[in-house]
Amino acid sequence: MSNSLPFLPFTRPTIDEETIQGVVDVLRSGWITSGPKVKEFEAKLSEYCGGRPVRAFNSGTCTMEIALRIAGIGPGDEVITTPLSWVSTSNVILEVGATPVFADIDPVSRNIDLNKVEAAITPKTRAIIPVDLSGLPVNRDHLYDIALRHKLRVIEDAAQAFGSTWKGERIGTKFQGQGDFVSFSFHANKNITTIEGGCLVMNNEAEAKLAEQYRLQGVQRFGMDGMEVELVGGKFNLTDVAARVGLGQLPHLDAFTIKRRELAQHYFTCLDQDFMAEIDCRLPTKDFLDSNWHMFQVLLPEARLKIKRADVMTKLNERGIGTGIHYPAIHLFTLYRRLGWKDGDFPHAEYAGRNTLTLPLYPTMTLEDVERVSIELTRVLKDHLKS
Ligand SMILES: *Cc1c(COP(=O)(O)O)cnc(C)c1O
Repeated sequence: MSNSLPFLPFTRPTIDEETIQGVVDVLRSGWITSGPKVKEFEAKLSEYCGGRPVRAFNSGTCTMEIALRIAGIGPGDEVITTPLSWVSTSNVILEVGATPVFADIDPVSRNIDLNKVEAAITPKTRAIIPVDLSGLPVNRDHLYDIALRHKLRVIEDAAQAFGSTWKGERIGTKFQGQGDFVSFSFHANKNITTIEGGCLVMNNEAEAKLAEQYRLQGVQRFGMDGMEVELVGGKFNLTDVAARVGLGQLPHLDAFTIKRRELAQHYFTCLDQDFMAEIDCRLPTKDFLDSNWHMFQVLLPEARLKIKRADVMTKLNERGIGTGIHYPAIHLFTLYRRLGWKDGDFPHAEYAGRNTLTLPLYPTMTLEDVERVSIELTRVLKDHLKS
């Protein structure tokens, strides 16, 4: 019977016809790379972030690398981050020649444990890169308390947190003196997209000027024909075609977030929470105020299951349900093992890394779809429990 039902991917972008037409207009306009649409997109993003300087780039990853460079962080410096994230979060630290220092996650929120951050600070620590995993915000009060007391820069990896808030205030804005660099991603899977892209929220125009230089070969332009280069920049500019997609997404942000929260809430209704607790299948933190519900992730009960996560994924796939694994623990990748990390270093991140299963959640899903996923997941779990 499930064969007749549509396949549910774990995520799916929502692009309206007006945006598609807008992209066609840009393609016909004669200016398709960085130009007026990027400027317009940046102005809208800045407005969203309470007027802070914002620049757009061709990925979220490069914005973190650039923030580290603007902060003057490089060889000999330590940057504390979480081992449970997309690997780009710590790759950028290596990219600028600095040393990543991991602090394990809190097993409930699955975000970096800020008490462990404080314990990991050394005289070489220069910055913290917290990640709002699946859009659940890291405690900004605690984070900035640590950063201020230890004079550390913060690069918020808010790639998944566009639309999330902290105590009702948008991530990306300055709130009670909190806020430093904020990095957002507009990758196709994020809550709003430019297909690929990202933006960096900064503190002042001097930082924004540096960001522009790092974005495009270090080039600065003056008057009609002046050009100067003082630093090594990369090739990180966003195209106008991509910016037009982003401009078409922004007006839907609130509706997307509301719908995601509604779907997430419905998962808690449809999944038998007593059964899940009994078998130790861990559900995400119930936050319907601040989280944008970028993802809905359960931790499979490895001690109770006769089959592996990959088998659960295959069985769900056969029933028309796509799932994801966001993310394996970073420190166990070969690149990081070569740098000295090993199994057992961060047990909570490792447990989550092995057992995370991302269930379908995207704005065009229906409540019936959520019910269907819940029923099928429960069936697969029940059919494969150790006795
Ligand atoms: C998506 C993502 C990134 C990277 O964004 P890109 O735009 O793909 O470079 C970084 N960190 C986290 C947590 C992400 O989810």
